[in-house]
Amino acid sequence: MAKRDYYEVLGVAKNASDAELKKAYRRLAMKHHPDRNPDNKGSEEKFKEAKEAYETLADPQKRAAYDQFGHAGVDPSAGGFGGARGGNGNFSDIFDDVFGDIFGGARGAGGGGQQVYRGADLRYDLDLSLEDAVQGTTVKVRLPTKVKCETCSGSGAKKGSSPTVCATCNGQGQVRMQQGFFSIQQACPKCKGKGKTISSPCGDCHGEGRKQEHKTLSVKIPAGVDSGDRIRLSGEGEAGENGGPAGDLYVQVRVRPHTIFSRDGSNLYCEMPISFVTAALGGELDVPTLSGRVKLKIPAETQTGRVFRLREKGVKSVHGGAVGDLLCKVIVETPVSLSGRQKEILQEFEGTLADAGSKHSPKSHSWFGGVKKFFEDLKI
Ligand SMILES: [Zn+2]
Ligand SMILES: [Zn+2]
Repeated sequence: MAKRDYYEVLGVAKNASDAELKKAYRRLAMKHHPDRNPDNKGSEEKFKEAKEAYETLADPQKRAAYDQFGHAGVDPSAGGFGGARGGNGNFSDIFDDVFGDIFGGARGAGGGGQQVYRGADLRYDLDLSLEDAVQGTTVKVRLPTKVKCETCSGSGAKKGSSPTVCATCNGQGQVRMQQGFFSIQQACPKCKGKGKTISSPCGDCHGEGRKQEHKTLSVKIPAGVDSGDRIRLSGEGEAGENGGPAGDLYVQVRVRPHTIFSRDGSNLYCEMPISFVTAALGGELDVPTLSGRVKLKIPAETQTGRVFRLREKGVKSVHGGAVGDLLCKVIVETPVSLSGRQKEILQEFEGTLADAGSKHSPKSHSWFGGVKKFFEDLKI
């Protein structure tokens, strides 16, 4: 069922304050309250609609979810992607389908009692580089969409013929069915609520009145998005049926793995190889960040695996919060392809260590101490 935008329902701006929301809701509630409008089903619907909109937007968490994901973010019955009419057999939908009609079919039953359907929501998977996700970008997306068939002007009938009035429902699009005490109005099963049947369908759209085409959209990706984030483009989904509103487009973000950095929330991580000479004597390194190189001082006697924190060189998340850090882990690299001369120097160097015992290798010393104790304990 087509739901109006909550802000539109309340007649307020997207950035409306809590006080403005409350004021708008109070005004609508006073106007449409069932006690003031007995037997006016239109008012009852408006009252319910305003109540639902206010209850969602007054809750900061729900409001944030709604701002980002639309109705799908706050209403479990709105279904996931591709849930064309939300008709997944879920109770609240059944309730709306059956009783919505009894209550006057206020859900925009457009011309002549026809059923109008909101178009399907579409999902578009967007792969982004880490740089684009962090800095924001604009991308062009091409997607399939249904548009009105020009050949038959949307009627669905072959040229020279025209749709005929449905005999089952007499063009009403709805039929009455007796169910217990209730007389229930339902969409006509023969014409599916269109009120018309087509004996010779249009060859281009096979009688549907709509055709599959492609459209290209320019989508602004805000800075700081991450894998799993969705961007909602209201009304950019599939066209509705019988004049119903279009669905929404959800752009699902997926960030490609980066050769240097990995991301966790607002922090970035990288590993940096350093020579064991730099590790021992200290030095200065050029560290890459997403905003260019920065100098990092490596103190003498740095062990492999030590993590250096570069403050505010991470990411500012699209969900807010402070700029994260870049955590740089140094890995001491063992030299390879050594020449005879280089090996000689290292052996000579190793000889100088032997005399001094544990002094130069604190880690080995405590580790071997632990091993010794382990074997001694084992003997008992
Ligand atoms: Zn019919
Ligand atoms: Zn057609």
